[in-house]
Amino acid sequence: MKSDFINNMTHEFKTPIATISLAADTISNPKVINDESKVLQFIGMIKKENNRMNKKVETILQIASLDKKEIQFRFENISMHTIIDHVLDTMDIQIQQKNGRVTRSYEAGDPLICGDNEHLSNLVNNLLDNAVKYSPDSPEITIRTRNADHGFVFSIEDKGIGMTKAVQSKIFERFYRQTSGNVHDVKGFGLGLNYARAIIDAHKGTINVISEPGKGSTFEVYLPSNLDI
Ligand code: ADP
Repeated sequence: MKSDFINNMTHEFKTPIATISLAADTISNPKVINDESKVLQFIGMIKKENNRMNKKVETILQIASLDKKEIQFRFENISMHTIIDHVLDTMDIQIQQKNGRVTRSYEAGDPLICGDNEHLSNLVNNLLDNAVKYSPDSPEITIRTRNADHGFVFSIEDKGIGMTKAVQSKIFERFYRQTSGNVHDVKGFGLGLNYARAIIDAHKGTINVISEPGKGSTFEVYLPSNLDI
């Protein structure tokens, strides 16, 4: 698993590094350097690849801090509906690029819980990112919320590639990635769900998955409101 991780990481970093190097070389070309619009285009490319690498580094740092139990939590009363809406805003371009559609069905009358805004945003982001990544065609995503057991439940459903029972039993393990079928075309480190589970554990919540190959997947997260802590 670890060597798979190293291979994936090498691949994920080599592509942006090569792109940045190429863009820099192109800008230094005398024919390009005097063409302002071309220069700006290549600078934009460098910036985009830089952001991409930054996101990867963030993920790795998150896991490293979880390992050392150094992770900092700042618990406060927050609305899970606001968190989900914010994450959806930041993913808008990514979803539109794949002609995706997101349906929201917010049935929780009380979206407030005591939790860490940043980590819960990362958790929602990881689940939505997977729903988009593992939908080969236009993603059709449904987000549902409700209140149950003195807490908040949300589910993220996609109509993507789905998973066998055997795969489902391993997805929360660190570095696990399904490597058969089309799946290895999709980039990733196998860290997103491991991080998600750690964050949910720290909030004393639960996560479940229902999935069928070729039909899609639904991840359901329960977070106790913890408001009396
Ligand atoms: P990554 O996406 O970087 O590989 P994750 O930890 O987020 O890592 O997911 C682990 C594995 O679980 C993925 O490689 C994939 O095989 C499977 N998986 C996660 N979410 C989905 C989904 N919505 N649909 C199908 N497979 C999924």
